Amino acid sequence: MSSKLLQDIETFEDYGHPLIIAGPCSAESKEQVLTTAHELNKIGINIFRAGLWKPRTLPSSFEGVGQQGLEWLIEVKHQTGMRVATEVATPLHVEASLKAGIDILWIGARTVTNPFAMQEIADALSVNPDVIVLVKNPINPDIDLWIGALLRVYNAGIRKLGAIHRGFSTYGNHIFRNSPQWNIPIELHRRIPHLPILCDPSHMGGKREYIPTLSQSALDMGFNGLFIESHCNPDKALSDKEQQITPNQLNTIINSLVIREKGFATTELNLLRELIDQCDNELLEVLARRMHISRQIGTLKKDHKLQVVHTDRYNSILNKMIEQGDKLQMNPEFIKKVMSAIHEESVRQQIQILNKNDKNN
Ligand code: PEP
Ligand code: MN
Repeated sequence: MSSKLLQDIETFEDYGHPLIIAGPCSAESKEQVLTTAHELNKIGINIFRAGLWKPRTLPSSFEGVGQQGLEWLIEVKHQTGMRVATEVATPLHVEASLKAGIDILWIGARTVTNPFAMQEIADALSVNPDVIVLVKNPINPDIDLWIGALLRVYNAGIRKLGAIHRGFSTYGNHIFRNSPQWNIPIELHRRIPHLPILCDPSHMGGKREYIPTLSQSALDMGFNGLFIESHCNPDKALSDKEQQITPNQLNTIINSLVIREKGFATTELNLLRELIDQCDNELLEVLARRMHISRQIGTLKKDHKLQVVHTDRYNSILNKMIEQGDKLQMNPEFIKKVMSAIHEESVRQQIQILNKNDKNN
């Protein structure tokens, strides 16, 4: 695809750098919406987000207050002068939001994954090409699907268009709720250099404690801004409470961020360091998974009175790894060292299990 894609979209320069959009995961009540908005406005935030129609994994979860929340967002606009943003997932959401006067609509990861839904939303948006639209990445790391969704919105006449990187869903236990895979937004930027890209560290990290570092990483790589969940009482939030922070906590984070010059990947070094950190996290997760399996094997060995170390099995693993490593241009001595450290730790953990079980018996 050429860099002429989405040629004449507007930049978000007027909204400040970094552009920050904050607000609760869900609008829950008029009081919660207004309290949070006033507190955010006080710390200098001028774009407020709140989800009204919530795409939840389980049907038993809180699915949002729906259309009645539109009035609360418009009240935020009147009382604070902030711009307001909400998520749309169907043409009905788009129509109702546009009619109410919502300034910014974002399309969530689950919706972006479905081209039919995206096209219907784009058609509904075409009646008001002045609205600002932000397109989150699809759940799966498919850059063409993401670009396809952006193109559908662009083809509907929208020129105030941006992307939000919120990470990608993966199976199993991981450090982050959604894996950052920074190489994908970097590639999006390479293909469409003038497209504003925000980072959503809340959905990416899934936990409050990760917001500062993910935000800083995004800014170091030259993202244009941040999209952060903030709630006046996060512990009582009806959705995503573990990743929401108070407006005061958000203020502390914003004040601690190092703001770099505008522009994506301003320094190659920052980018490469992020990619290295990503690899290290993946390594850690894979090692943890391997140790977990190893402990399960330890329990089986104990039950069946098998010995812990099987030299033949270890040698065959090692030879296979050296052979595969060779295809990946890896030094065999290095592979031996790594595999021997992993094997040693596996054996240590299995012996620990045997001892523990022995003590319990
Ligand atoms: C959200 O921003 O509230 C949301 C539902 O996000 P995502 O689509 O990234 O899961
Ligand atoms: Mn959320």
